[in-house]
Amino acid sequence: MIDLRSDTVTRPTQPMLTAMMNAEIGDDVFNEDPTIQALEHYAANLFGMEAALFCPSGTMTNQIAIRLHTRPGGEVICDRYAHIYNYEGGGIAVNALCSVSLQQGERGLFTAADVAASIRRDDVHHPVTSLVAVENTMNRGGGACYDFSELTAIREVCNQHEIPFHLDGARLFNALIAKNEQPKDYGRLFDTISICLSKGLGAPVGSLLLGKQEHIKAARRIRKVMGGGMRQAGFLAAAGLYGLQHNIERLADDHRRARLMADALSDMPCIDAIIPPETNIVIASLKKPFTPDQAINVFKAFDILAVPFGSQEIRFVTHLDFDDNQLETFIQKLPDISQAIEQG
Ligand SMILES: *Cc1c(COP(=O)(O)O)cnc(C)c1O
Repeated sequence: MIDLRSDTVTRPTQPMLTAMMNAEIGDDVFNEDPTIQALEHYAANLFGMEAALFCPSGTMTNQIAIRLHTRPGGEVICDRYAHIYNYEGGGIAVNALCSVSLQQGERGLFTAADVAASIRRDDVHHPVTSLVAVENTMNRGGGACYDFSELTAIREVCNQHEIPFHLDGARLFNALIAKNEQPKDYGRLFDTISICLSKGLGAPVGSLLLGKQEHIKAARRIRKVMGGGMRQAGFLAAAGLYGLQHNIERLADDHRRARLMADALSDMPCIDAIIPPETNIVIASLKKPFTPDQAINVFKAFDILAVPFGSQEIRFVTHLDFDDNQLETFIQKLPDISQAIEQG
C-alpha cells in the first residue's frame, strides 16, 4: 500500500526507535521526566520562546491555547477552513465556551484588514473578541503558506486591540522550509504556537505548545484538567526530539514529491483542478459526476490510499515514509486508475 491519507501515518525509523528505547524517563506529572524537559527546552529555544509543554495531540495544544487566552462568551477570529473550527470536535464551544468569527480567507489565509473589520466594539450585545488564530500551513487550503508580512500586519492589529495571537502550526516546519523562514521570527510574533511532532517530523505521538512562562504554567494546569498529564512519556518525547533534530530539512523532499504528484494528477481527464502545492498537501477536485468516494475506492483498488476532502475533492499528503520509488509507482499507475474512474 502507498498510504497518502496523511503525514500522520509514518512509523518511527530505526534510529528514532533507538532514541526512544534509550530515553531517560521519570514521572512527568511530578516534573521528573528529563527527556520531556529536554524536548520542551529544545523546542522553546528553537523558537526563542520562554517555555513549552508536551501534549498528546495538536488538538490538545490548540484547545489549551484557546482556553488560556479566552473567557466564556468570547469570540475567536479564525478562518472557515480552520482545523480548530472544523476538526476539533467543536472544542472551541466545549472547552472554552466561545463562539467564532469565521473569516473567508483565500485558501484559508485571511488578512490583517479582515481581522480589523471583525473586531467587536465594546457593546453588551456582542461577544468579546478574545483571540486571533491562524493556521500555517493551512491544511484545508492545500498546505498554503502565509506571507510573513501579512502575519506581521495581523500582529499589529492584535496589538492595537490587545488581543492575543495564536498559531496552529501543526505543519509550521513545512512552511518554514517552503518559504525559507526562521522559527525565531515566528516565536517573536505569536503569544502561543502549537507544533505537531507526529506529522512531517515522523514521531508517533505528540505536539508542543510554546509560549511565555506564565502561559505555559497555566497551560500545564489546563492539560491536567483535560486528562493530558502523562507519566513516563519520555519514550515519546525522545521521538519528538529526534524528529526536531533530524527531520526538518528533509521536508523539502516531501514538497518536491507533492509538486511532481500534482503534475501527474493534472493529466487525468476526471480531474478538474489541483491547488498548486506549496508544501506536502495535494488537493485535487474532480469533475462532476465523479465523486470523491468513487475515486478513493479506485485508488484503493490500485493500492493507493487517499482521503475524500470536501464535496468534490480528494487529498494526498506526502511524508517521510513515501519515497521516490513509491512516487514513480504512483505515477505509473495513474493512466489505469484514470481509466477505471472514467468507466465508473
Ligand atoms: C493535524 C492537525 C492538528 C492536530 O491534530 P491531532 O491529530 O490532534 O494531533 C491541528 N491543526 C492542523 C492544521 C492539523 O493538520
